[in-house]
Amino acid sequence: MIVNAVHHKSKLRRRSHILRQAGYEVLEARTGPDALALVARAHPALLVLDTRLPDFSPVDLCRQLKSNPATQTTFILQTSAANEAHGDQAADGADHLLREPVKASDLIAAIHLLLRLREAQHALRARTPQSMADGDNLLETIVNSMTDGIYAKNLQGRYVLVNPAGAAYVGSTVAEMLGKEFAAILPPDEARAVMEEDRQVIATGEPQPIENTRMTPNGWRTFQSIKTPYRDAAGAIIGVVAISRDISERKRADQEREQLMQQLLAERTRLETIIQQIPSALAVVEAPSGKVILANAQRDQVLRMETPTIDGVEQYNVIEGFHPNGRTYRPEEWPLARSLLTGEVVIGEEINVVFGDGARGAIRVNSTPIRDETGRITSGIVIFDDISDHKRLVEARNHLLLREHAARAAAEKAQRRSAALAEVSALLVASLDFDATLKIVARVVIPSFADYCAVWMLDGDRTRQVAEAHCDPQHEEWLRELAQRYAPPVQNPMSPQEQLLRSGETVVIPEMPASLSDSLSVDPEVRRIWRDLGTQSLVIAPLMVQGQALGAMTFAMSLSGRRYDEADREFAQEIARRAALAIDNARLYQKAEAAVRIRDQFLSVASHELKTPLTALVGYADLLQQRAAEGRFAERDQRAIRVIAQQIARLEKMIGSLFDLSRLEKGQFDIEGAPVELNDLAQQVALQINPTLKRHTLAVRTASAPVVIFGDEAHLQQALQNLIQNAIKYSPLGGPIDVQVERAGMVATIAVTDHGIGIPAAALPQLFDRFYRASNAEAWHINGMGIGLYIVKEIVRLHGGEVKIESEEGSGSTFTICLPLASNETSAPGNEGEASIQNAAASVAV
Ligand code: ADP
Repeated sequence: MIVNAVHHKSKLRRRSHILRQAGYEVLEARTGPDALALVARAHPALLVLDTRLPDFSPVDLCRQLKSNPATQTTFILQTSAANEAHGDQAADGADHLLREPVKASDLIAAIHLLLRLREAQHALRARTPQSMADGDNLLETIVNSMTDGIYAKNLQGRYVLVNPAGAAYVGSTVAEMLGKEFAAILPPDEARAVMEEDRQVIATGEPQPIENTRMTPNGWRTFQSIKTPYRDAAGAIIGVVAISRDISERKRADQEREQLMQQLLAERTRLETIIQQIPSALAVVEAPSGKVILANAQRDQVLRMETPTIDGVEQYNVIEGFHPNGRTYRPEEWPLARSLLTGEVVIGEEINVVFGDGARGAIRVNSTPIRDETGRITSGIVIFDDISDHKRLVEARNHLLLREHAARAAAEKAQRRSAALAEVSALLVASLDFDATLKIVARVVIPSFADYCAVWMLDGDRTRQVAEAHCDPQHEEWLRELAQRYAPPVQNPMSPQEQLLRSGETVVIPEMPASLSDSLSVDPEVRRIWRDLGTQSLVIAPLMVQGQALGAMTFAMSLSGRRYDEADREFAQEIARRAALAIDNARLYQKAEAAVRIRDQFLSVASHELKTPLTALVGYADLLQQRAAEGRFAERDQRAIRVIAQQIARLEKMIGSLFDLSRLEKGQFDIEGAPVELNDLAQQVALQINPTLKRHTLAVRTASAPVVIFGDEAHLQQALQNLIQNAIKYSPLGGPIDVQVERAGMVATIAVTDHGIGIPAAALPQLFDRFYRASNAEAWHINGMGIGLYIVKEIVRLHGGEVKIESEEGSGSTFTICLPLASNETSAPGNEGEASIQNAAASVAV
C-alpha cells in the first residue's frame, strides 16, 4: 500500500492513477497532517511525498515520520521541483528523491526498487538467533531468485555479494565475481563510471538512482539502478549495495510510446494547420457541453468579430440569426446545438444573420456530430461560410429573371391582344348591319378580355343597353333583364356615365366596391341582379365618333376572378375605338340604305304620277303639230310648237327612263321572248334617229346574213337607242357614229362607236351604276341623269348577254352589246372572214 501526498488536486489524481495502474493500492492525502495521520493509521510500505504541501515543510514531515516508531518503517520517496533551493535538504529525511519532472516510468521503477529494499530490510530485522541460519538461507534464496541484479561491494570495490541475475547482466558468473574487484570484471569505461557512482554514494551517504546503458553479452542494454551505502552496527559506511534492473524493454516501449506521442502531436499540428487553411469558418466542440475546443481564424472573419470563449450551447447566440419567418434563433436551435443534442446532420442550412459588425447578411452552415465506437456523441463540428454576397447576387439574378418573365409575359399578352384586335377588326369590317355589329362588338372580347361585355348608347337623356354578351348564357339573360329595368339618366353630373361621356376618358375600376349594388337603384330586383352578376372589376370605354361619345362599352370581370389594371386601359380604348368606327359605318350605311329606299319610293311614285299628265301633253302637242302642218299658225308659233313638242319628247324619255328604272328595281321589268333579227333592228333604230341629226352622221353596217337572237324587240331597240343617243350626246362637236352588227361564233354583237369625249379610265368600273356620271360629262356641261346605261345593262343582262366598253378619254368610245344567238342560229352558214367582208360591202350610209 502506498500513501500519495500531493496538494495539487489534478496532480494528486494523475499520480494516484499511475500508481494504481502499476498495481499498487493507493491512499491519498493533500496536507501534511493528513499524510501523517494516514501513515500512522494504515502503515503503508511507502509514502510518495510531493514537496509542495502548503502547511508542512517536507523536512519536518520526514523527521516526524522517522522519529515515530509506528511510522518509521514506511519508506519515503520525495519528488521535488528541479529549481527548488531546498531540494537537497528536503531529501535529508526522505529515503529517496526524484527531481521533477518525474516520468511515470521512473517513478514506478524507483518505487519498485525501494519496496524491494524495504522487503529485504524487513527480512533482516526479522532475524532471530534461531532463525538466523534459516534467515540466511531465506535471504540467499530471495537474493538469488530475484530477477533484479544485486551487487554488494566493500569499500575496496570487491564484490561481497552478487546474485546470478547481477552476474548475468555483466556477462559473468557469481563464482567468478565474488571476492574480485569490479575493475577486474567490468570493461575499463564502465568501471570508471561505477567508481564515480560509488564515490558519490559513499560521500553523500544517500541512496542514488542511476540509469545507464552499457554493452552486455546481450548487446546494448539500459539499466536502472539504485545504489545505497550500507553500514556497520555503529553506522559507519562499509560498502555499497546496488540493485539493478534491465529496463531495456520498458525503455523501448517508452521510446515507442514517445514516438507515437510525437506522431500524434505532429498529426494534431497538421490537423490544426489544415483547419486554419480551410477557407470556411470551422469550430470543433466537445459534447455534451458544446464548449468550443478548436476554431480557425476564419471563424472570426466570417462572424466579423473577435469571438468570445464559448463554454456551452447556451452561449451560441454570439451573433443573431433569423428563421425565414423572421423569428430569432434560440441557442439550442443553431445547427451545431442540434447536432450535439439530437445527432442531426445539418447540410447547407441558410440563416439570415446580423454579423458582429452590425451588418446584415447570411451564412450557410453544415454541422455534424462525432461519435465514438459505442455511438455516443463525443464532439461536434460546424463549418460555415458568409454567403451574403452570393445571396445578394442570386437575389439580383432572380429579380432580373422575374423582370424578364414579366416582360415576356407582357410581350405575349401584347401579342395576344394585337391578334385579338386584328380579329375584332376583321369581324367588324365584315359587318355593315348595325344590330349585328353591336352584337359582334360585345361578343368578340369574351372571354379573352372580359367575362362579360355590354354596349350601351346614348338615347336622348338616358343610356340604353343595346348589346350584351356573357361567357355564361344564364348570366347573359340577367344582363338583358338588368338592361330592361335599369336605364339611368345621364344628366346627373355625379353619374359616372355622364363623366365618361363628357370627358371621353376611359374609366378603370380595378376593384368594384361592394357597396355599389345598394347605391345603384332603389329597385330591389336591379340590386339583386347586380349582386348575382358578381362584378369584380370594370373598364368602361367610350364609343367616340368625331369627338363625340355615342355611348360606351363596359368590359367586366366576374366569374373568372380576374382583375383589370391600368395596363388594360389602352386595349379597352382600342377595342372601343374600332367598335365605334364599325358602329359609325353601320349607322351611316343604315342611313344610306334608308335614303336609297326613300329615293326608290319617290322614283316609283313620281314616274307613275308623271306619266298621266305627260300622256295628255304628248297628245295635245301632236295635235298642235298637225295643225301647224296644216299651216294654221304663224311661223313664230309653229317654232314654239316645235320646241314644245321636242321638250315634251325629252321629258317623255326621261320619265320613261325613270319608270323603267323603278320597274327594274322592283323586278317588274318584263322581257317578252321572240326571235329578233338584229340587222333589221339596227336599221330601224337608225331610221328613227336619223331625221333628228344635224351635226352627226349615223352609219349602220349590218352583217351579211341575218343575225337572229331570242328576246324582247322593243327593249332591245330601247337599249340600242340609248347607246346611239349617248354617242351623239357625248360627241358635242359632231362627227360620225357607227353601228355595226356582227355574229362571232355563238354570239351576236351590236357595236356603237363614236369619236366624242371618251371616258376617263377611272370611271369605267362604275359606268353602269345607277345615277353615275363620269367627271368629264359634267365638265362638258352635258346634261343627264346617269340612268341610261344602267337600263341598257339590265336589259342586256335579262337577255343573258353583256355590254363591253372600249374608250379613251378625248378619242371616243365603243359600246358593244353581246347577246347569245338563238339556238337554231348558232350553226348559220358562212365563216367570219367572209361575213366581215360582206358586212363591209353591205354597210349603208343612212
Ligand atoms: P346620262 O347620259 O344621262 O348621264 P347614262 O347612264 O346614259 O347617263 O351614262 C352614264 C354616263 O356614262 C354619262 O354620264 C357619261 O359620263 C358616260 N357616257 C355614256 N356614254 C358615253 C359616250 N358615248 N361617250 C362618253 N361618255 C359616255
